[in-house]
Amino acid sequence: MFRIGYGCDLHRLTDGASLRLGGISIPFNKTAIGHSDADALLHAIADAALGAAGLGDIGEMFPDTSEENRGRDSGEILALCLAAVEERGWRVVNLDCVVCAERPKLGALKQVMRDRIAGILGVSSDCVNVKAKTGEQVGPVGRMEAIEARAVILLERNNERA
Ligand code: MG
Repeated sequence: MFRIGYGCDLHRLTDGASLRLGGISIPFNKTAIGHSDADALLHAIADAALGAAGLGDIGEMFPDTSEENRGRDSGEILALCLAAVEERGWRVVNLDCVVCAERPKLGALKQVMRDRIAGILGVSSDCVNVKAKTGEQVGPVGRMEAIEARAVILLERNNERA
């Protein structure tokens, strides 16, 4: 028995020194604005996982009105979402992600993000795919006003827990 889930996220960019994305910090002249650490990719993955398990969305679990979530590490948020998914008797088969960013160039960082995400989810890196696209210099992404991420995830019944 399988379940699929989809998640997407967007964060505005402002002048800064580093960008949090895919669970890693990337030196960059802009940073993402958000209540937590504003990691759009981990938020999209968390929403995909919650969605697949029928558990609502990340905003319900981690409200942006909560002081506890201010500046919070999204790796911790994703780990807690995964724990909730596993508690319902599901485990991750694989996920595929897209990051839309005009800059920084992410080619060399895709594998680092895959390894980090796989570590958080407790799966091997070949179960996590990260793709990078630019905004072709148009729209909020292309003008470097925002960064976007999308993720699709497949879960299967964990018979060891059932
Ligand atoms: Mg977000």
